[in-house]
Amino acid sequence: MPVISGFLVISNYNKCNTAALICRYADLNLITMTLKSFLFLSLVWFALPSCKNEQNVLSTGETSKQEQPHDYYKFEGVPIDKMDSLLMQYRLYALETDLSTLTPNEQKMIPILIEAASIVDELFWIQSYGDKNALLKNLNDKEKAFALVNYGPWERLNGNAPLLTDAQKPLGANFYPADMTDKEFEMWPDTNKSSQYTMVRRGKDGKLMAIPYHEFFAEPLKRASFLLEQAAALADDDGLQKYLLLRSKALIIDDFRPSDMAWLDMKSNKIDLVIGPIENYEDQRYGFKTSYEAYVLIKDLEWSRKLEKFKAFLPDLQRGLPVGPAYKTEAPGTDTELNAYDVIQYKGDCNAGSKTIAINLPNDEVVQLEKGTRRLQLKNVMEQKFKEILVPIATELLDTNLMKHVNFGAFFENTMFHEVAHGLGIKNTVNGKGLVRTALKEHYAAIEEGKADILGLYMIDYLASRNEIQGSMEDYITTFFASIFRSVRFGVGSAHGKANMIRFNYLMDQGAIYRNSDGRYGIHFEKFRKSMSSMSALIRTIQGDGNYDKAAALIRDKAVISSQLAADLDKLTKKNIAVDLVFKQ
Ligand SMILES: [Zn+2]
Repeated sequence: MPVISGFLVISNYNKCNTAALICRYADLNLITMTLKSFLFLSLVWFALPSCKNEQNVLSTGETSKQEQPHDYYKFEGVPIDKMDSLLMQYRLYALETDLSTLTPNEQKMIPILIEAASIVDELFWIQSYGDKNALLKNLNDKEKAFALVNYGPWERLNGNAPLLTDAQKPLGANFYPADMTDKEFEMWPDTNKSSQYTMVRRGKDGKLMAIPYHEFFAEPLKRASFLLEQAAALADDDGLQKYLLLRSKALIIDDFRPSDMAWLDMKSNKIDLVIGPIENYEDQRYGFKTSYEAYVLIKDLEWSRKLEKFKAFLPDLQRGLPVGPAYKTEAPGTDTELNAYDVIQYKGDCNAGSKTIAINLPNDEVVQLEKGTRRLQLKNVMEQKFKEILVPIATELLDTNLMKHVNFGAFFENTMFHEVAHGLGIKNTVNGKGLVRTALKEHYAAIEEGKADILGLYMIDYLASRNEIQGSMEDYITTFFASIFRSVRFGVGSAHGKANMIRFNYLMDQGAIYRNSDGRYGIHFEKFRKSMSSMSALIRTIQGDGNYDKAAALIRDKAVISSQLAADLDKLTKKNIAVDLVFKQ
């Protein structure tokens, strides 16, 4: 078993879970009232009075009472209606970590950062939907729970299908006026219209206007900015202090670059905060507009140090890749810092629908070129997904004798090395077609994700053979395989879903995995390892050649869910195995 540190509170929860079945049904508040988590809870409760201030600062008329996910998410009986089944796709999890390692000042910072995060949660509601309270006030409790996890009346796990409304979700969410046509947008000469930091609205004269976020959301952003300044005053770590001050300013001027730079300079901070308008997924119309979100994080310094060490192996790994020499001439990217964290708050975009377990920031290419990026592995949430989703899936679909190989250490490291493996391989084609990204166009993401998955496993094999990591290859491979089922459940619409389906079908074709007559899947470990090599070579060659047609064909032929697999996945739904988590925070 690999050594995973920093699970004080979580491991208590584990004990509780294994000690008595009662705990699975008991109120999570009781579960979490273990001695070590008491500190955290008292901090959060202590913070509540100050959270009320938000009600005074939102100029939009939205109240900001922080709604908690409803207890329906703990319901484990038989669903009686569609809403039950939808809510049961999510499992309730109380976000927590051990805060006793923080200094008194750092402990004081936490409630302040949580309040700032809660403010941007309300801003995301406006960007995604509009008037949250108008929607919630006409809903019953279950519908309200649904609306809160989806940040609107549409079902995120089902391609935003309308559920509490007859209306389709606008592709551009609430970033643009509902009646704006593409033609009107194209003809509009305003250069700020495609800015990632403007809301598009109609003026009194009916003409389009691009309003900067810091004006549109002026009052709440001023409050969030003030809170970051307060937190900065408490910061013991100089890097964190500088970052918080710059971020505080950034929020009210929509210029995030200096704070992004300062964020990458931070090394020794124990607390971290990601806050601002960051990803552009919510704007599915043009992909211009960024959504507000926030994570409050506690860094796992020990794991972060280990990851730093593994990066030193990248050049050697690049040389050893099972592919022709022309395809591995580039120096591997070592500009990515990799850190592990426990998350104590998810707010806004990242809290909507399915929850991410790893992030890579900043998105600003100028900052990326100058300083690189940082990947954040969100460890406590990862462990919860492992327990609530991956283990039940494996229990249902894997050969029972494989279960001994499914463990969190392997899951965590597979995910970690996936991220490191993005740095391996090639960014430029070997035949003058330019960047791989440009050559493979819309297929780039799925191929690149597939590459990272398979090369991540290759890295693990390499490190395990040198005793740099402790787990057995059988554990890594089995857990990796079980994880394919988990990812495929998100649908083949996403790059990750496609990559996983391609791999599943490839491994089936090679006989590396097989389906028994009892409907359970087995692994032929030797063939699995061979397939890892051949598949890695296949993907790397497509990338190096910039072979768009071959990428397209691979996705067309292999990124498909067979009726057999669909039936197997259906079993998971019938057993009410969760698809994702919802947080009590
Ligand atoms: Zn990836």
